[in-house]
Amino acid sequence: MTTLFIDHGSPMNALEINHITKSWQNLGKTLAKPRAILAISAHWYVPYLAISNNKVNHTIHDFYGFPPQLTNFDYPSNGSPEFTAEIIQALNDFTDGEIIQALNDFTDGEIIRATDWGLDHGVWSILTHIYPNLEVPIVQLSIDSTKPPLWHYQLGQKLHKLSESGILILCSGNIVHNLSQLNWKSPDSGSRWAIKSDLQLTELITVREIEKLCDYNSLGNDVRLAIPTPEHFLPVLYALGASGDERIEIFNQVYSYGSLSMTSFIGTK
Ligand code: ZN
Repeated sequence: MTTLFIDHGSPMNALEINHITKSWQNLGKTLAKPRAILAISAHWYVPYLAISNNKVNHTIHDFYGFPPQLTNFDYPSNGSPEFTAEIIQALNDFTDGEIIQALNDFTDGEIIRATDWGLDHGVWSILTHIYPNLEVPIVQLSIDSTKPPLWHYQLGQKLHKLSESGILILCSGNIVHNLSQLNWKSPDSGSRWAIKSDLQLTELITVREIEKLCDYNSLGNDVRLAIPTPEHFLPVLYALGASGDERIEIFNQVYSYGSLSMTSFIGTK
């Protein structure tokens, strides 16, 4: 299986048919069917590492001000305690038992803390296009906000062997994501700094300049504007780690509302 980094953009993409969501639908036609999906999204950014462990995932509507078709949108999917356990196994040697379980009835000895999480819109707004009728389990891993960028990359590396065993690693964020700089008058273009920083970061991603990417605050003013907060960028580091030494193929390198890029990538053998 492969690793994907997808720029999710507006939650409205769940409902819309546009050139971005069509590209997601095309992915669904070309990707093999995974045996399970592990998703990492900018929207589960919490001060601990957690993993969801639901038999049935609920659709989280973690946004405001959108029409009822979106707030009532449901992407039915299942989790799998067995799959959760498999991921914990893969991660445990790295995290010293810091994994936090996210279901009440799961009683593995390594549980530190239980919480509940379904799928957030960074995951379901994409998957509803890639796999509209998916019957394989989906589990989400949180992004631990207390850890430095390199830690996230190294955790991503731990996921590579999962991708080699038929699991799709789906990382969802945005390379350029600055909501304070949105320009509602330009839905289909990017500001100069947004395009410049996106090209600069994409170049580093393609050649796997991990050290520079982890030190993104040193990459100049444009990049600082592109990454005002880490959560939408960190999924990039997971995808780079999880894709091993695969070649990085960029797609959807377009811009919206001045300060968002939709740039995405896939690891290819
Ligand atoms: Zn987002």
